[in-house]
Amino acid sequence: MDREEQLRAADKRHLWHPFTQMRGWIESDEDPLILDRGDGPWLFDLDGNRYFDGNSSIWTNIHGHCHPKIVEAIQGQVAKLDHCSALGFSNESAIRLAEKLVEVAPGETLSRVFLSDDGSTAIECACKAAVQFRQLTDSPERDTFLAFDGAYHGDTIGAASLGRIGAFNDRFASTGYRVRHVADYSEVEALEQVERDRINAVVIEPLIRGAGGMKTWPTGMLRKLREWCDETGSLLILDEVMTGFGRTGRLFACEHENVVPDFLCLAKGLTGGTLPLAATLTTEAVFEAFLGEYEELKTFFYGHSYCGNPIACAAALANLEIFEEDKVLDGVPAKTAALGDALSAGRTVCPYWGQIRQVGLIAGIDLQSPDGSPLDWREETGARVCRAARKHGLLTRPVRDTLTLMPPLCASEGQIEEAAEALRLATLEVLGEA
Ligand code: PMP
Repeated sequence: MDREEQLRAADKRHLWHPFTQMRGWIESDEDPLILDRGDGPWLFDLDGNRYFDGNSSIWTNIHGHCHPKIVEAIQGQVAKLDHCSALGFSNESAIRLAEKLVEVAPGETLSRVFLSDDGSTAIECACKAAVQFRQLTDSPERDTFLAFDGAYHGDTIGAASLGRIGAFNDRFASTGYRVRHVADYSEVEALEQVERDRINAVVIEPLIRGAGGMKTWPTGMLRKLREWCDETGSLLILDEVMTGFGRTGRLFACEHENVVPDFLCLAKGLTGGTLPLAATLTTEAVFEAFLGEYEELKTFFYGHSYCGNPIACAAALANLEIFEEDKVLDGVPAKTAALGDALSAGRTVCPYWGQIRQVGLIAGIDLQSPDGSPLDWREETGARVCRAARKHGLLTRPVRDTLTLMPPLCASEGQIEEAAEALRLATLEVLGEA
């Protein structure tokens, strides 16, 4: 057996892949695609085949793979201080990152930064802080989070209880936070007073729900939600784990509606897609409730071994510097237009492409039958189309029968157009020329 075969066999024997039916994975005639190298928007497999990273490696990558500035920052930091605990100690990269995040955060009020590991922990941190905040401010009756149908906020039990995507969340529905789920803003407005009085915080993915199928929210809804929170005394937790760091055209999606939350949850693109790191930003008003004498036990009882890891923080600082030095956000509108135009053009010649939803460089394309009816999800058409797209040099992953494209911000307009075309060709290959 050569190295490649050995790796494939060992993968099937020992690795358990996330969100993957492992029987299908193990029994598939197709070999697992083992990626070996990354460069800009490209990923290369062990045979040297090149693929466009069409979903930014599950929505994390921003400036391209192995960006020299981020690589240098990581190398410099790891050679100097690899890790030190943030429990009782500090480090320069974590301090500078906190300072920088406060500077770039929307509004003037998000002044405190809690660092943790990934999107799920960014949410857990906000929620646990919100729960303790209510205890500390004599409002323990506010024991319920308000969240939305189709939401996804992570897989740890608390974060998962906020989510509402049947297949992911139903089986764990009896665990986690007390959550009131609503479909949309009209259901928020319709809440009875007794229910309003129990809301601790509203949790939402602003502008677009990702894992729920790239479902967009109506323009203006976020602003109304902020006003509703202010009127009813609820906190607002924004999950910008997917939408943060320029994907929507602004550094943070909430800037589109001039909304400043009480908690801003960041991860994925925070390190430019290189290392796990999360940040939960909050206000001085929340933070101050936790201040007191040691014996008052007002301390925020939350933390992880790798909170404030210096290597990840150095990567995040380099990520933010690239945004500024290269004026990355200035390039996003033209790329957004290129993505929109390419998908619309593809749709006119591909009867299997139904509704297309897009916010900035985030896009979802619903697959459908030529008569417009939905496909049978059990056929796994979305996954088959994405597998077929590999032959056209594109890697991406669907949400069931919604194809997704979320190119890294460094992708050129031409590369984005090619990715859309690869997806269209793959769709026709799988479903047949109509
Ligand atoms: N929130 C949102 C909006 C997400 O898209 C995700 C991940 N897809 C998460 C939270 C969880 O992040 P992680 O996978 O890093 O825990």
